Amino acid sequence: MKKTKIFRGKKLIFLLILCIIVPSLNVRAQERVFPKDNDLVIVIDPGHGGTDTGTQGGRIQERFMNLITAQALVNRLNQYEGVTVYMTRFDNDTTLSLTERAVYAKSVDADFVFSIHYNACVLHDRFGIETYTSRISPYNAYGYQFGDLLMKKYESQYGIFPRGVKTRKGLRTEGDYYTIISANIYRDIPAVIIEHCFADGVVDAQHTMSDDQFRSYGETDADAIAEFFGLKSTVLGIDYSGYSDNLCYADPASFNDQTYEDRTNPENVSVSLVSIDPVSCSVTIHVEGSDSDGMMLYYALSTDGGWTWEPPEVWPSANALTGTYDSSFDLTIPFESGDRPSIVIKGYNRYDGYLKSNQITFVDRFNGQDMPLYRV
Ligand SMILES: [Zn+2]
Repeated sequence: MKKTKIFRGKKLIFLLILCIIVPSLNVRAQERVFPKDNDLVIVIDPGHGGTDTGTQGGRIQERFMNLITAQALVNRLNQYEGVTVYMTRFDNDTTLSLTERAVYAKSVDADFVFSIHYNACVLHDRFGIETYTSRISPYNAYGYQFGDLLMKKYESQYGIFPRGVKTRKGLRTEGDYYTIISANIYRDIPAVIIEHCFADGVVDAQHTMSDDQFRSYGETDADAIAEFFGLKSTVLGIDYSGYSDNLCYADPASFNDQTYEDRTNPENVSVSLVSIDPVSCSVTIHVEGSDSDGMMLYYALSTDGGWTWEPPEVWPSANALTGTYDSSFDLTIPFESGDRPSIVIKGYNRYDGYLKSNQITFVDRFNGQDMPLYRV
């Protein structure tokens, strides 16, 4: 992979060429994102606030979770040297529009905006951390680099599942759907939304039990930001200054796959029968799945023909940061004597698009001894 410096433009000639072929907006960002003279300015944006409560599905309303995390983030980031940190809604619970937040970030000459959120979904069954970044180069590359680094920390420190760095296209524009991103990009400020985990889900419930956890995520965010910008803290005894070179090299084009928004469902999800154990009443099936312009991320099982579903599980070997997953796997499903299952699998991609498989339907009930009849 060809690597190009995007954060520190030492090659003047290269930059001059870029000035001609890409909009000046992008070139300014390349020069500013990694300040050379200790004037790094970070804006932390606790999402929602005031009349905008955010998701209500968690232990407390999202506007409060975001604030607790953001405050801990700011406290810790302030212990690093060479960075000035601002918050959009400070230590209170004001109602603030998304554009007002970006205007504020511009007024303090921000180099990067991090918007702090917790997630929720309609079925309350999803889990994991994800970040949203701009679809527009080079902002997508900045966002990808940061999100990748952040999610690896969350996976190793908390066991929170990485759902990947994502983008979302605006409804009527080629730009970004989320205003906190588009309004900042418009002002030449890279912005990332961090959806820490699902406040409303069973799996992530263990990660959203206490204020201490919300604070701890803020501190992890601060360390990720410090690592991303190669900062050092004498007080904390942390020195990321040696890390910065690695993180500041990237070819925005190489991130297209990861930040590509997959708007279609998986192409293939199918099941076939491997074996039946009539005595223990278990069935082993072979599951195949593919999504050529994305990846398989979760699967869910139904044993009543799709009327009810088990909570989604991680698709074997799915890694949302690399886009890799197993093309097939075997699954053994235990039943009880008297059951007459109808087995069907739902395979989900990274954007929660899904496809239902064919069905394996048992004609006879399991009785603990005879081989039941079935059809595929
Ligand atoms: Zn939110």
